[in-house]
Amino acid sequence: MRSVEEHQHVVAAMITARAATTAPLAAAQGLVLAADVVAPMSLPVFDNSAMDGYAVRAEDTADATPQHPVVLPVAEDIPAGRTDQLTLQPATAHRIMTGAPVPAGATGIVPVENTDGGLHSVTIQQSAPPGKHIRRAGEDVAAGTTVLRRGQVVTPAVLGLAAALGLAELPVIPRQRVLVISTGSELVTPGTPLQPGQIYESNSVMLAGAVREAGAEVIAVATAEDDVTQFGSILDRHAADADLIITSGGVSAGAYEVVKDAFGPDGVQGGEGVEFVKVAMQPGMPQGVGRVAGTTIVTLPGNPVSALVSFEVFIRPALRTAMGLPDPYRPHRPAVLAESLTSPRGKRQFRRAILDAETGSVVSYGPPASHHLRWLASANGLLDIPEDVVEVQAGTELQVWDLT
Ligand code: AMP
Ligand code: MG
Repeated sequence: MRSVEEHQHVVAAMITARAATTAPLAAAQGLVLAADVVAPMSLPVFDNSAMDGYAVRAEDTADATPQHPVVLPVAEDIPAGRTDQLTLQPATAHRIMTGAPVPAGATGIVPVENTDGGLHSVTIQQSAPPGKHIRRAGEDVAAGTTVLRRGQVVTPAVLGLAAALGLAELPVIPRQRVLVISTGSELVTPGTPLQPGQIYESNSVMLAGAVREAGAEVIAVATAEDDVTQFGSILDRHAADADLIITSGGVSAGAYEVVKDAFGPDGVQGGEGVEFVKVAMQPGMPQGVGRVAGTTIVTLPGNPVSALVSFEVFIRPALRTAMGLPDPYRPHRPAVLAESLTSPRGKRQFRRAILDAETGSVVSYGPPASHHLRWLASANGLLDIPEDVVEVQAGTELQVWDLT
């Protein structure tokens, strides 16, 4: 049997970064910058007013007090967006709004609150200290400065900065494109009636959600019956557009194992190098990885808990690494087990768990069997019990993967 770490390495080596590209700003959110970004211009772009008020020569207002106000004629009105270039004459004022360009010759702004708000002449009750309330060109960003670094995640604030600099696109590492295929002749899409012996298909929506939550893109979701031809036609339709194919089901030891059959000697894909292995873990022992028509495929077991835990352990970190995203692994936290547990010999066990972050204690949540989806849905952690452990006493410290 292959260890969890070994299989993690095998999968990670098969999921590789796509070539850097440029993406429109909105599409770049959540991706990682593929290159440094140098400011093509300064911010602010021009000297502008930080207040609604009056642009003046500071010395013309030096003596202004409420008792002895200074009265100046208002020669211009400058709303934000006025594009002609104005010059302030001595002993005059221009009415000016926040964000409007400060006229040449003005050295201070009197906030409207310190005036009578006059339109033709203005009564100024307080002096304007030189430079006060003027936002200087380049005081935020000087043109030519490296403002963003390669490897940085594109956050809303990064988008704002890029747009302010006039950039419509950013250089990014693209999302991994993922095709999700469920397999099983018993599976029915939720919302349609069930026949006896059928169940609702739950892996595809769950795994597609996990793909997106990991920061990657789902290009298509499909369900195949346990029929190699049908499975093959889904691959034919979508595999070439994907960087990664994730299947669930059809890889264990029974008959009608469609995924195994498809890549076997008689399969539609003609044994194109998909390797089926047993990994020493529970849940999720039967795993597979390989390539189909040049696209990486990871074949997960069908039991829903196995499928999602396998995704967490093998695929999520590999996808995030390939996209250059920080923290490819869930945070691992030490926690003290509040109960005694047994665990299968020779298998690394991932138990659904409730972690109490405040006390640092953890309890398992629900049975270990891999069809108990209910518990996984409300767990906030995975208890990571090492391979060689068969009994754990209450009070033992264990690692917990924090799923929150
Ligand atoms: P398999 O790996 O195909 O043998 O499936 C193992 C178990 O998981 C069986 O009980 C299947 O019915 C169930 N299963 C497989 N795929 C899905 C799915 N997409 N949604 C819900 N249950 C599934
Ligand atoms: Mg099946």
